[in-house]
Order: sequence, then C-alpha cells, then structure tokens
Amino acid sequence: MSKLPVIELFGPTIQGEGSVIGLKTMFVRLYGCDYKCSWCDSAFTWDGSSKSSIQRLTSLEIIDKLNSIGLDGCTYVTISGGNPALYNEPMHDLISELHKRSKKIIVETQGSIWKDWFNDVDILTISPKPPSSLMSTDWGILQSIFANLQHSNVSLKVVIFDETDYLYAKKVQSLFPDITLYLQVGNAEVTRSESIAGQLLNKLEWLFNLVINDPEMQTVRVLPQLHTLIWNNERGK
Ligand code: SF4
Repeated sequence: MSKLPVIELFGPTIQGEGSVIGLKTMFVRLYGCDYKCSWCDSAFTWDGSSKSSIQRLTSLEIIDKLNSIGLDGCTYVTISGGNPALYNEPMHDLISELHKRSKKIIVETQGSIWKDWFNDVDILTISPKPPSSLMSTDWGILQSIFANLQHSNVSLKVVIFDETDYLYAKKVQSLFPDITLYLQVGNAEVTRSESIAGQLLNKLEWLFNLVINDPEMQTVRVLPQLHTLIWNNERGK
C-alpha cells in the first residue's frame, strides 16, 4: 500500500477556519507544499525545519495512530498540509479507508493542483493565496479546478492582510459568484505562546468594516481564525 509523509497527527480538536469552523475533528498534517507563502503559519510542513518528524505511513497505519488518540470520538478527519494535493494514490487509499469507517473528510488546498479525489472528500475548501503571500495565482488552473468539481460542499476562503488582499478577494468572488466565499483575517505572528487574540480581533473589526461599507460584497462571510483566539499559534491544536 502506498504511503503518505505525515508530519503531525493530532486531535480531537476544533476546526478554526472557513466553512468547517467550530467542528470537532482529528487532524492529519502532511509534509510538502508547492507554495512558500510569506506568512505561512505551518512552514514546518515544507521548510525542512521539522523533516526529522516525518513518518511515511500507509492509510491503515495512519488510522491505527488516529484510533490511539481518539478517532472513535470524531466523525470528521481533516487532512491538511502543506498541500495535500501533492499526493494522489495514497490520498485515494486514505479517503477510502476512512469512508469505510463512516468518517467524513475535510480537505483544504490552495487551488494550484487538481486531483480527482477532490470529488470524493466530504467538505472541500479552496483557499487561493492573496498578494501578501508573495505567491501568484494561476487563474487558469483555479478555473479548471472549479470546472472539474462535482461537489456540493465546496467553498472558497481568502486570508486578508491588507487592502490589496481585499481587492484580490473581490476578484475571486467575481470569478466564482456561486461559491460561498469566506474571508479570514491574516495571522502573521509566529509566536506560539503569547496571546495574539487582541490584535486578531482588532484586525477582524477592520475587515468587518471593509465588508460592511462595500456594496459589492453582499454574500461573503467574515470569520476569525477561531483556534488562534484560544490557542494562539501552538502546534498540535
Ligand atoms: Fe503554507 Fe498553505 Fe502557503 Fe503552503 S499554501 S506555504 S501550507 S500557507
């Protein structure tokens, strides 16, 4: 059976972002990303700093490990990264084995790579990265992903650090008007223990006001990154 490079397995925890905000879930975090966002809050998944923590595991080994920490008490399993879309066959295996156990699968990816298994997960978030990330969006790939998706539970999420990012989010909304768009305030802090809730809530109020005063943004949903209000940027939460 093919293997996935797993850098973290944890849970149960509470999902903090986008359409799945507030859901209890287990987490499988995979190594590797095709992006290098300037503000990535999980750079350890691609920058080499935690390479020694990578375990190459089959889907059955991943499920064994999840069982040992509380999979029984969770309907949802989030497969995160990095970018899970880097992997094909082992993702098919993991999705299939989790579904056999009546688990529901949440995946978020930036929309830079298409994979057939996108149509097999239960909740999919496509999160294209705005200009502050210093990455550039391939709009053609993003449009082809939405053309290929046959999915009733897909949403878009854009992280907003500044007004340039906000204009980018408006472009995303104009290209995909039928897909629910979530806006989330950016979190550039790398500190893992000091409280960052105050500054994040101030930024959230700034973003609320941008949307409130913008007649072109009528259906977006504006959210905090919920888990960072409670746990800051602590790993494994
Ligand atoms: Fe980090 Fe996600 Fe950007 Fe990859 S796409 S560098 S994991 S923020």
